[in-house]
Amino acid sequence: MIGYKFPCWEKIAEKKNKMKKSIKIPIRTCLGCQNKRPKRELLRIIKTPEGNIEIDPTGKKSGRGAYLCYNRECLEEALREKRLCRELKQDIPPQTINELRRFLEDYTSKSPGK
Ligand SMILES: [Zn+2]
Repeated sequence: MIGYKFPCWEKIAEKKNKMKKSIKIPIRTCLGCQNKRPKRELLRIIKTPEGNIEIDPTGKKSGRGAYLCYNRECLEEALREKRLCRELKQDIPPQTINELRRFLEDYTSKSPGK
């Protein structure tokens, strides 16, 4: 008797199933309170390739990003400890700081109960 070896398709299918897609939620650290949070819960501040500091609420702009919680305290803490400029490797222009403060004030006043 010749033992025929059939390819074991089932096992191949099993192997393929093991390559599950893992959905990872990107986690970032707030520069103020230094808590780790899902990226979309944080405000992104970027340094553009041109060297401008911009607020990026959509998180889609390209550039080096720094992250903050949506509150003024974290912004002030990040500024006080100079974490923001260290992270972006650039001084934050006063104009941008004002913009950030205004942005966060607007944000907090628009979301009641926070
Ligand atoms: Zn924070």
